Amino acid sequence: MPTLDLRRLIILLTVATALITFANSFQASYRSQRDLLMQQTLQANYVYAARQAYSTDNFLLAAQDQLAYSASQLGSKLNNADYLQAEVDRLKNQTDTFDMVLIIDANSRALATAPSSTGLKGQILVSQGAQLLRNNHTALISAPFIGSTGNLLVMIAAPIKSSTGVYLGHITGSIYLQQRNILGTLLGSGYRDDGSYLYVVDREGKLIYHPDTARIGEHVMANPAVHAVVSGAEGSQRLINLKGIDMLAGYSPMKTTGWGIIAQTPTEIPLAMLNGLMLQTLKYTVPLLLLTLLAVWWLSGRIARPLWHLATLVKNWHAPDTLDLLNQVRARYFEADQLRHSIAEGISIIQQQLGKLSRESLTDPLTGLDNRRGLRRALDQLQARQRPFSVITLDIDHFKQVNDQFGHDLGDQVLLHLSAQMRACTRSDDLICRSGGEEFVILLPDMDLDSASALGERLRERMANSPSPVGIPVTISLGVAYASPGKHSPAQILKLADQALYQAKQQGRNRLVAAQLGEFF
Ligand code: GH3
Ligand code: MG
Ligand code: MG
Repeated sequence: MPTLDLRRLIILLTVATALITFANSFQASYRSQRDLLMQQTLQANYVYAARQAYSTDNFLLAAQDQLAYSASQLGSKLNNADYLQAEVDRLKNQTDTFDMVLIIDANSRALATAPSSTGLKGQILVSQGAQLLRNNHTALISAPFIGSTGNLLVMIAAPIKSSTGVYLGHITGSIYLQQRNILGTLLGSGYRDDGSYLYVVDREGKLIYHPDTARIGEHVMANPAVHAVVSGAEGSQRLINLKGIDMLAGYSPMKTTGWGIIAQTPTEIPLAMLNGLMLQTLKYTVPLLLLTLLAVWWLSGRIARPLWHLATLVKNWHAPDTLDLLNQVRARYFEADQLRHSIAEGISIIQQQLGKLSRESLTDPLTGLDNRRGLRRALDQLQARQRPFSVITLDIDHFKQVNDQFGHDLGDQVLLHLSAQMRACTRSDDLICRSGGEEFVILLPDMDLDSASALGERLRERMANSPSPVGIPVTISLGVAYASPGKHSPAQILKLADQALYQAKQQGRNRLVAAQLGEFF
């Protein structure tokens, strides 16, 4: 027998469907959320890099303007050492822009420095910066280089010219890259403290600014975002950085210097955020899922129950109370109701057929009276109930002659005629039985010998005095016996009545003999 029933099947199907759907939508939502978050992070980093490029450009332009203005005032005052010192001090101290301010003449001699502690004043400078200025009598912003003070620096310079336009020297402001400086304050501030950070590279892909100051000066061109930004591109991309970390980088080049600004976030940070989000989603959806499954469990019970009920009843369909139980099944829905109706109809038809068959097996087909089997059953019931009864056995006189004279069909009509007379003389509780060809037995419950004899006598008279189907009366002989409960077996009483009948035949037929118990027992 299969161990799965309808209810388990429904639950299995629904749970599987629910779980697959849930897993699917959960996974889909995870993917789209992840893509969205990464896109957002990339976009945020790009916007931030672009904004920082813009404000850093503005800062450098302002610093250049500051120096250019000073330079314009210095053309006629290069011999005034006090003025020069005051000017570099002002530029150094008025704002936090420069770490060092320097005025040099056309021969790269330092005329004034702030702070003055550098000890450069009066020296001919040979640094990369000094060479740059000698070769370029213009305003410029240098690439990072190691200055005369030994610091890695970026130099902003404005040329000093005479009133006739002759190049006299430069005023320069330096920003030390490896120390806390205005650039760092500008770049490092106001960014998310979620592991995101920002760094700046020069045109050669060398780090100018990085939160880890030890890395400043390092070449990082191998980083794809650095490569893109120094070639002038702006945008964002996911990449593996030089330390092997998965990063979401946004980048934008600076207009003034061609430097690249890169803002990046470790990819694991938005992903970790996503995990939290998905956990939250689970917290919201799982109770509903469980509630749904609970509802399914309950509902599947309601769907399966009527069918289960029907199946159990059908298994035991021959039980006498099956029809009643079927009517008590609450069908609830069309199919179950239809099944219940059909099953009830089927069982009722089968029971009717069986009843008919068993009735037929107890009935004589010609007269519709009980046959010997019916007689035996009736006797068994009388004995079981311990009821007293009388019995009449009767036999048609000279029936062979009737048949011979009038034919078998009319003989049958005579048998039917006798049946009708017997029915007319008896009560509804009495049992009339055709025990053989033209022999009959009448059981008369609760009737004593005298009443039974009187009944038999009435029957005999009716037959003797009424014309039969063959036109003339056909007579009968009868034997009567009485059984009191517990004393005689049905077989004994029948035998007694048969013996009385035999006597009636012996005594000339068309008569009734009542058996006297004493005679035989
Ligand atoms: P008796 O007075 O001694 O009873 O004489 P009988 O001729 O009635 O007795 P017997 O036993 O010699 O004959 C019985 C006859 O009943 C024989 C048979 O032809 C006839 N018979 C038995 N059953 C049927 C039946 O179903 N239909 C018809 N038509 N005749 C039947
Ligand atoms: Mg006979
Ligand atoms: Mg006879």
